[in-house]
Amino acid sequence: MTKYVYLFKEGNADMRNLLGGKGANLAEMTSLGMPVPQGFTVTTEACNAYYDNGKVIVDDIIKQINDALGKTEKIVGKKFGDSNDPFLVSVRSGARASMPGMMDTILNLGLNDESVLGLAKLTNNPRFAYDSYRRFMQMFADVVMDISKDNFEALLSAKKKVKGVVQDTELDANDLKALVSEYKAKYLELKGEPFPQDPKEQLIEAITAVFRSWDNPRANTYRRLNSIPYEWGTAVNVQSMVFGNMGDDSGTGVAFTRNPSTGENELYGEYLFNAQGEDVVAGIRTPKPIAELKQDNPSLYKEFQDIASKLEEHYRDMQDMEFTIERGKLYMLQTRNGKRTAQAALKIAIDLVKEGVLSEKEALLKVEPKQLDSLLHPQFEPKALAEAKLITTGLNASPGAATGRVVFTADRAKELKEKDGLPVILVREETSPEDIEGMIVSSGILTARGGMTSHAAVVARGMGTCCVAGAGQVHVYEDEKYFEVSGEKYYEGDWISLDGSTGKVYGEKVETQDATVSEDFETLMTWSDKFRVLDIRANADNPRDAKVAYRYGAHGIGLCRTEHMFFEEGRISAVREMIAAKNQAERKKALEKILPMQKSDFIELYKEMKGYPVTIRYLDPPLHEFLPTEQDDIEALAKDMGIPTNELTATIIELHESNPMLGHRGVRLSITYPEIAEMQTRAVIEAAIEVNKEGMNVIPEIMIPLVGDVKELKYVKDVVVKTANEVIKKANVKLEYHVGTMIEIPRAAILADEIAKEAEFFSFGTNDLTQMTFGFSRDDAGKFLADYYEKKIFENDPFAHIDQKGVGKLMKMAVQLGKETRPDIKLGICGEHGGDPQSIEFCHNIGLSYVSCSPFRVPIARLAAAHANIKNPR
Ligand code: PEP
Ligand code: MG
Repeated sequence: MTKYVYLFKEGNADMRNLLGGKGANLAEMTSLGMPVPQGFTVTTEACNAYYDNGKVIVDDIIKQINDALGKTEKIVGKKFGDSNDPFLVSVRSGARASMPGMMDTILNLGLNDESVLGLAKLTNNPRFAYDSYRRFMQMFADVVMDISKDNFEALLSAKKKVKGVVQDTELDANDLKALVSEYKAKYLELKGEPFPQDPKEQLIEAITAVFRSWDNPRANTYRRLNSIPYEWGTAVNVQSMVFGNMGDDSGTGVAFTRNPSTGENELYGEYLFNAQGEDVVAGIRTPKPIAELKQDNPSLYKEFQDIASKLEEHYRDMQDMEFTIERGKLYMLQTRNGKRTAQAALKIAIDLVKEGVLSEKEALLKVEPKQLDSLLHPQFEPKALAEAKLITTGLNASPGAATGRVVFTADRAKELKEKDGLPVILVREETSPEDIEGMIVSSGILTARGGMTSHAAVVARGMGTCCVAGAGQVHVYEDEKYFEVSGEKYYEGDWISLDGSTGKVYGEKVETQDATVSEDFETLMTWSDKFRVLDIRANADNPRDAKVAYRYGAHGIGLCRTEHMFFEEGRISAVREMIAAKNQAERKKALEKILPMQKSDFIELYKEMKGYPVTIRYLDPPLHEFLPTEQDDIEALAKDMGIPTNELTATIIELHESNPMLGHRGVRLSITYPEIAEMQTRAVIEAAIEVNKEGMNVIPEIMIPLVGDVKELKYVKDVVVKTANEVIKKANVKLEYHVGTMIEIPRAAILADEIAKEAEFFSFGTNDLTQMTFGFSRDDAGKFLADYYEKKIFENDPFAHIDQKGVGKLMKMAVQLGKETRPDIKLGICGEHGGDPQSIEFCHNIGLSYVSCSPFRVPIARLAAAHANIKNPR
């Protein structure tokens, strides 16, 4: 028979998966002999069973709960519903990973018309007893029965008004007793049945409510953002109550063993005399700093301090503790590894190494790679954020915080920014290459459409600009210069704020604070580099991004999307000319214009990378992203090309594709027009020769995109090799270069052994590989993925975290097949997943040699790669 319920004395810290973090730590503290109010934990497996059984707690589990209850009653020497010395409990959630505030808690459970008398007698404090009872009723109604607590707060306010008092504490026992009757009547009125008097019934309802809260929208969103699997479930802790509100020798508080915002090694926290935990949390009364307990009660302070340092020593990490003092006796209600800011995380990890508590490897594991984002990007000022008006949520496409005035076009972004220097936020239905200049000057980008690998997301991430993409509730009326969300309109010039780390959009100006990189950051990076085997490269298409990438420690460029080099004004027309060219002569003319631009860009990129490898991906423009759509642009292009507008319009219509993402792009373009590959090769090789003359040793890597068959690769590779060798011969120099391919079409993964005959390296293009493996459009999937999350079909966006099961299987296959043909084949990844810690761990485990990600994610990738190798050494 499965054991679903554990007494605290039966568990330990290693049983986290089963007992949840809180339950495991309560058990551990119990075994350390610490003063823990006793109780039991209903396991995470019971939560899963609840869902498996159609949201019902089955009889066997109820029986185990009742058994544990009986045993706990014996341990604490009290009984449920006793009118002399009643047993009262708290019921709290506790998942494997802490999810603060996401699920439900119920306190003072066990109070009824009988036990309230017992509590009054026992404490000789009827006021306290009735106050506890009314609090419990309110909480139970709200959390368990879904009756808003406002109904009860209104009764409380009315009572205070009648009595002419302001504070709750000014109500006496009789007032509170009367209030309990009023609460009961309200409960009956709203629920249609009386408030349950049987504590066992209360308990099962409360446990059910906690299980249910595992699936509430808040918890689901938190889990998705923090990659916590749904299948983990939550445990429920039932713990005997101790009271911090039994008079002036009682109190309650929370404390950290170190300062959670700075990392300083000092006991940090606050407490309140004569109060229950919720008073501290709800901010009804202002708590005192924990240091004052030293004066108020030196011996208690000492006892608490001893426990705190014992706990930190035991867990070898900063602890976040909750405690209660009941009539002069200290009780520990919880301990856990404390949440901390990124800055504190670094300081604590490094200090613990200095103090000889942790090894460097262990310290690295204490810092979450994703946390580094907040050190690299501006963040909102926390107080301002707490008060800000949330208007909608989209995808957290590129981290950081931005505040600025709404603009709807790239041109207006530039104009406004140039005019007064104040920040702007570009709001678009979706972005396209034409928007690039506007994106550069914007502090943030908001799009109504598009996924995690959409143009806006990819480009914003590359620039380190905050971006919320695919905010489906936003309706953009570009011509009328406003957007609408939930019935409210925001016009050009109105202030809004974006949080690219959470996807939240605020309808006002919210103060931001700048990113700060400290000495601790450098130390952490140095340690990361010591323990990782994966190389870290960056995706960069211009010298500006390459410079950032190098500064953050990228050892090479893993993806230079050459079509992105033409996003800048004055350049895009050359590419359009090339695409719209009617014949080879026209195309060659356009290519002649492009060649010097490409060459000078490559020279700069090579220089920025100071000899590290640079992978140049040949043109892969989905045609729809490049062709002009506006009449003005069409006329201008026709003029540039020296052809009538109607001729160009006809060409554009001819080039229209129903599925441009599956259309004439990538290698297919060079097969139709080999002169494109010729031109690009000339630029790559001539640039390398030029830079090498200055004493560098650039070894260019030429990467052919969208290959699905070895013959495609062979055809283009022959053009590349012929051209490259001619250029090298003519220059009379020696130059090493490599030709490889992206693996981004499922067929290429399946036939990787054949493809490896021609490819010297593979780079997984997991954006397209995900798109084509699932058959989900990378630009549109955001529209329906939310339904997938809600219906638990998916837990995560496969464009953000590699789908290890499906896409990952193809990758593993390609690695194995590729190595069979070419044992020394170089293997990397350059899809957006290359900067995602979870996906990086996967890439490490399947034996890739490098990951390539946007420049601002390079430090995250360095740490994530170290984590991967520490956990699973290669
Ligand atoms: C990819 O498909 O993963 C990739 C890196 O190429 P792009 O995003 O340019 O299609
Ligand atoms: Mg691709």
